Amino acid sequence: MQRISIVIPARNEAAGIGRAIKEVLRHLDGLDVEPEIIVVDDGSTDGTYEAVRAAGERLPGVCCVSLSRNFGKESAMLAGLTAATGQAVATMDADLQHPPALLPEMIRRWREGAQVVHAVKERRPGESLATRLRAAAFNLLLEKLGGVSAEGCSDFKLLDAEVARVLAQRLPERHRFYRGLATWVGFRQETVGFSVGKRDSGASKFTLRMLVNLAATAIISFSTIPLRIVAVLGLLTLLLGVGVGAEALWSWFRGEAVSGFATLILTLLIIGSFIMISLGVIGEYVGRIYEEIKARPPYLVGAVFGLEPETAARLQAPAPLQQRGKADR
Ligand code: UDP
Ligand code: MG
Repeated sequence: MQRISIVIPARNEAAGIGRAIKEVLRHLDGLDVEPEIIVVDDGSTDGTYEAVRAAGERLPGVCCVSLSRNFGKESAMLAGLTAATGQAVATMDADLQHPPALLPEMIRRWREGAQVVHAVKERRPGESLATRLRAAAFNLLLEKLGGVSAEGCSDFKLLDAEVARVLAQRLPERHRFYRGLATWVGFRQETVGFSVGKRDSGASKFTLRMLVNLAATAIISFSTIPLRIVAVLGLLTLLLGVGVGAEALWSWFRGEAVSGFATLILTLLIIGSFIMISLGVIGEYVGRIYEEIKARPPYLVGAVFGLEPETAARLQAPAPLQQRGKADR
């Protein structure tokens, strides 16, 4: 029997997590798999951990990793991938917006040889116009600047154990964009379509600020094009400078007073804003370098239940970057 791990990041999902676990188990029933449900409680304050524990007393294969505080969904998923021991690992949301009914099809694809099965959003009837517009802007930016096509991409995926291991152990970066990384790693990739339903209970845990942060991480971790844009801006200002300079010299030779106070002001303003924007862009990258070089662990575990002792120990292990540093010396 193959063991399948289901990683569910959960932030304040006490109201719906029990039902989500039950639904997942119901859909795995009869597939000849041994389920391992790993809920990662991402610093919830509403008793999500206790709710998972209660579910674990009634249902088989339920475990929980409770992070010491809210570290964000990306870190929670990383903790779940690290803890997973199945031959395949699925990641999905706790709010049933990622339909468990799709799991049998994803598992079938995996059994036929796919190593990464992406669930791709085909329709979004459950999402508001604002959410859809936001997603469209996010994807467009990402594709143009980051070079990763994220159209319809979601965090609902099924990974072969080998790919899960690569994502959890071989990529030492702290700022992560799982959707992009799961594509970046390669291997045999396939997609299956699904339509996004309404949230089962509670409200979205993502604020606009969190989405902007995620977009910045996605772009910065996948591309240096913004830095190139800075260079292009510099080149444009140089051209502008040469043009305005030539005009000024020309007037001077002809003995005319140098005209164009407005031109001067405009040029100053334009160059000034180019410089500020460029500094901001470079600052973003420097900030990320600083964060990465500090090499703090991407999450800390507060409590666990249902995990094997070695799995629990793996969650406490030093981050890959620190290990790598030691090996290099
Ligand atoms: N989530 C998390 N940590 C956070 C924010 C969200 O683990 O800091 C989880 C959340 O509990 C849910 C999933 O990430 O299982 C997706 O969140 P949500 O449904 O709020 O996002 P949306 O569907 O609105 O994009
Ligand atoms: Mg949701």
